[in-house]
Amino acid sequence: MAAPRQGLIERLPKVRGEYIADAPLAPIAWFRVGGAAETLYRPADADDLAGFLANKPRDIPITLFGSGSNVLVRDGGIPGVVIRLTSAFRQSRIEWQGDSAHVHVGAGAADITVARLCRDSGVGGLEFLVGVPGTIGGALRMNAGAYGREMAHVMLQAEAFDFLGARQRLSPQNMGFSYRHSNAPDDWIFVSAILQGHREDPETIAKAMAEIESNREDSQPLRTRTGGSTFTNPPGMKAWQLIDQAGCRGLRRGGAIVSEKHCNFLINTGGASAADLEGLGEEVRRRVKQETGVTLEWEIRRIGRHGTGQASLGGLEGGDS
Ligand SMILES: Cc1cc2nc3c(=O)[nH]c(=O)nc-3n(C[C@H](O)[C@H](O)[C@H](O)COP(=O)(O)OP(=O)(O)OC[C@H]3O[C@@H](n4cnc5c(N)ncnc54)[C@H](O)[C@@H]3O)c2cc1C
Repeated sequence: MAAPRQGLIERLPKVRGEYIADAPLAPIAWFRVGGAAETLYRPADADDLAGFLANKPRDIPITLFGSGSNVLVRDGGIPGVVIRLTSAFRQSRIEWQGDSAHVHVGAGAADITVARLCRDSGVGGLEFLVGVPGTIGGALRMNAGAYGREMAHVMLQAEAFDFLGARQRLSPQNMGFSYRHSNAPDDWIFVSAILQGHREDPETIAKAMAEIESNREDSQPLRTRTGGSTFTNPPGMKAWQLIDQAGCRGLRRGGAIVSEKHCNFLINTGGASAADLEGLGEEVRRRVKQETGVTLEWEIRRIGRHGTGQASLGGLEGGDS
């Protein structure tokens, strides 16, 4: 990690939240790898965040970090300011209109917490959130989904701050949702959303959620250092099948391995660097292209600067080809 830019924090606006210089991100990223944020900013609340965005110098790059379940932070860390939403952005409440529920959620709320609140309150339709690690903000950005449902099916409205701190309201149409993607401008920060649910028996919801959790347990390497699905499924195909076909199941690079259980997952077995994981992913893409002619696209967002000298010296091992 390069030394923090001279006086970065001094150049930033006064806020009620917290600035932390050279803040390690590996401990909070699911892969447990990567360098530090040059400066981490934890806004006190939405007004604090808006003031920060309106008054920050324009040349400073801003990166939003949710719960880090879909990002690979590179070894050289992230320049500029990394924003992490705090508990002020985790409020949730349910508003009933007859049998229709409007679930108001903060973008910092964990998907699983929202799912459980809905279960306990008899709100059906959002069960899939129990299967998506991460925050509501990350789920909006990624159009996260599972078992045939995704954010595009349930979002009624989202609220974001633009790069200048102006509050913007987005309808599902404005979000431009497609598979694991939203077209909302990359530098907008979601702060809250309203999700649609319906009245349902809590026991029915609990059963559906238990089924999702047990399916995931059977098919995904959950208690590992991973970033979930590495590549998006190409239209009409499954990424894991292409990876399997290319003989990459179990392929290793340094401390990184292609999961034996679900070969669209990369795992840090303990000593991997971000360069090991990214290099392994690129090798999988190369082999899949060579074997099947299909170019896999990364679903995991690789962010920050490459490190110097952190790539594993070890070459590739394992796999069938
Ligand atoms: C074990 C495992 C299983 C997974 N299974 C699934 C699955 O079944 N379905 C699925 O869809 N995904 C899955 N994922 C991927 C991941 O959980 C989702 O993409 C999740 O929505 C990411 O949320 P996050 O808060 O962790 O975002 P992060 O990973 O921190 O960030 C992801 C992107 O969202 C942006 N972002 C985050 N918060 C905000 C915000 N408030 N405003 C604007 N942008 C923001 C970030 O800048 C980044 O570009 C899985 C991941 C893991 C580790």
